Amino acid sequence: MRYNLSDLKTVRAILEKHGFSFSKSLGQNFLINPNVCPAMAEEAVASGEDGVLEVGPGIGVLTAELCARAKKVVAVELDRRLLPVLSETLEDFDNVEIVSGDVLKLDLHALLREKFAGCRKVTVCANLPYYITSPVIMKLLEEKLPVESIVVMVQKEAADRLCAEVGSREAGAVTVAVQYYAAARALFKVGRGSFVPSPKVDSAVIRLDIRKNAAFAPADETFFFRMVRAAFAQRRKTALNGISAGLALPKETVAAALQSAGLPADVRAEKLTMEQLCRLSDILSESDKE
Ligand code: SAM
Repeated sequence: MRYNLSDLKTVRAILEKHGFSFSKSLGQNFLINPNVCPAMAEEAVASGEDGVLEVGPGIGVLTAELCARAKKVVAVELDRRLLPVLSETLEDFDNVEIVSGDVLKLDLHALLREKFAGCRKVTVCANLPYYITSPVIMKLLEEKLPVESIVVMVQKEAADRLCAEVGSREAGAVTVAVQYYAAARALFKVGRGSFVPSPKVDSAVIRLDIRKNAAFAPADETFFFRMVRAAFAQRRKTALNGISAGLALPKETVAAALQSAGLPADVRAEKLTMEQLCRLSDILSESDKE
């Protein structure tokens, strides 16, 4: 490897050579802690037969670690100014492909089909831009992509929420969605000093292992997620008020559903377990059809 991409002087020299300046709006905080990328890559790549999808390679510090371990790495980068930088920093690897584009707009099913033929399995590994953490994670999960696990760095507070237990104070609608599709756990914390430029917040690496079979199966999945979003929309409201307002259902209907589900009328969404949310959704989706 020609460059030590964890060395601040080297990073500055490469960026200067290419006339690159950081874009705050694209969430560009590049990792310079030499321990973090190898640890993330070890988590993401179990064998040399695996394929890895990376989101936002930056100057390629994590990409290089993934390339050293995986059969193939495909990295999606939105900022076209980084393409010549990546051609230079990753020139030693012949198993990497940079896709220029917005991960939120790409057809990831087509991308995975096209790029990872011959790989034993595909995982996702990324230091995600903070401004799109939840949309990226939700896209990866909701589109039911054929990936086995997702190892990503996110803001520490987002990690706490994503890995919270459903039914706990930290839980939100995104927690329910994540736990629905995957088993989530926090791996390790990464301090703000591990990046250049240094962000105002700390980060954490989390791991999502995609469930092969859903742990809970509401009768109407679309209704379930609409109800969950409504229930959690205003954290100070009761689930009854949130669901009634968000789904435009009469309060009496929601109150009756809570009662049939054996739940108190004034319960807050954060107190509800996955099983209780599913039961409530099944009762309400039935009454919604009537
Ligand atoms: N992986 C590098 C690292 O760890 O140093 C860079 C991580 S930086 C937090 C996020 C990267 O995502 C940046 O390179 C940024 O340009 C890129 N990015 C931002 N929005 C994106 C999008 N919508 N699609 C793809 N890449 C994006």
